[in-house]
Parts: sequence; C-alpha cells; structure tokens
Amino acid sequence: MKPEDIRCQNDLKMYSTLLQHSDVIKVNENIARQEEKGPTGLRRHLLAISVSLSKGMAPSVHKMADECIETLGMDIPLELYVFPSPQFNAMCFKPEEGRLHVMFSSSLLEGFKGDELKFVIGHELGHHVYRHHDIPIGYLLKGENPVSPRLALELFAWSRYAEISADRAGAHCAQNIEAVARALFKLASGLTSDFIEFDLQDFLQQVDEMQLFD
Ligand SMILES: [Zn+2]
Repeated sequence: MKPEDIRCQNDLKMYSTLLQHSDVIKVNENIARQEEKGPTGLRRHLLAISVSLSKGMAPSVHKMADECIETLGMDIPLELYVFPSPQFNAMCFKPEEGRLHVMFSSSLLEGFKGDELKFVIGHELGHHVYRHHDIPIGYLLKGENPVSPRLALELFAWSRYAEISADRAGAHCAQNIEAVARALFKLASGLTSDFIEFDLQDFLQQVDEMQLFD
C-alpha cells in the first residue's frame, strides 16, 4: 500500500486548491526568495533548543524511524532531536540542506512505547510525505499581512484533514491498531502511568459520543 492510497481525500482536495490561492503563492515566493539567500539556520536553531539524538544514543528510535521511512517509501536522510518538556509533542520541519529534521519532547519519548512511538514517528513523517509543508500555515496565519477570514477558515479546515492523513500514515507504519489507540489516548489524556488500564472499547465509545455531540 502506498501512502497516497491512504491520504485523506479532503486533505488532497483542499491542499490542491490552497496551493493555487494567490496569498499562498505570494508567501511561498517570499519563502523561496529567503531560501535562495542560503539556509535559514534550522539545524543551528534546533541544536540551540534541543539535543540531537544520534544512532548510538537512541538506537531503538532510529530503528523505528528507519522502518517508517521504508514503509512510506521515503528517500531523505533523517535527523532526530529531543527537547525537554512535560507536554507530549513532536514536529517535523520542512527539509533544509537535503535533510529532514524531526523533534520530540522528552516526555513523549519516555512515555510512548514500541508501536505507540512508531505511530507518532510515522505521523510526523507523513506530513513530509504528503508535502504539507508546501502550505506554510504558520506564515500565513501569523505573518505580517493577515489573511482573509475566509482563507484562515479554509487553512484551519485543511489542517484538520492534513492531521487525519498523517494519522493514517502513522497507523500504516505501526500496523498495530491497539497501539495506535493507546497513543491517541495518551496524547489526549496526558496519562502514561501503569495504573491506568487502557480499554479500546471504552475509548471508541467516547469517540462515538463525541461524533454524536458534533
Ligand atoms: Zn501532525
């Protein structure tokens, strides 16, 4: 199965439309002009706020990342980073100097086990595979020239669908639905401790109730 086969269709549809939007084109042209002047110093910035995880320091995380790269058919060198934070967080940056940089919070790396972590890594790599960075939502929403409310709403809607695509990529990498659900539970609840008994059926029931409220 290819990543494109499991991409959320609404993500693809809105992504294609948004790429043609004049404001998105303008911001992307600005970014390209900046990049022409040289690298933005992403790696230096990451090293200032986090620690680079070498293969020797974190062999199991690198092994999982390599497996995700293979599953998603990617071909780009990867660098992993960890930053100190009690909040579960992970992010994938737009490639710079031919390398992809993925950063995790310390609590996430410590609290997520096996396929749960693989799901998170696959999710982050999914953002790269689906080229979500081509729509620089941060620049558009927080830039000097605010976008129209209509475009802002479209960007928010698209980003929700983009997250669904990334979740699917993560689930495809993990190949373990229980672990995916456990990871989503941990992300939503902040809980990892052993005295919590995770129950997939109870958790799914909550998702049903949430959809009912919607
Ligand atoms: Zn995401």
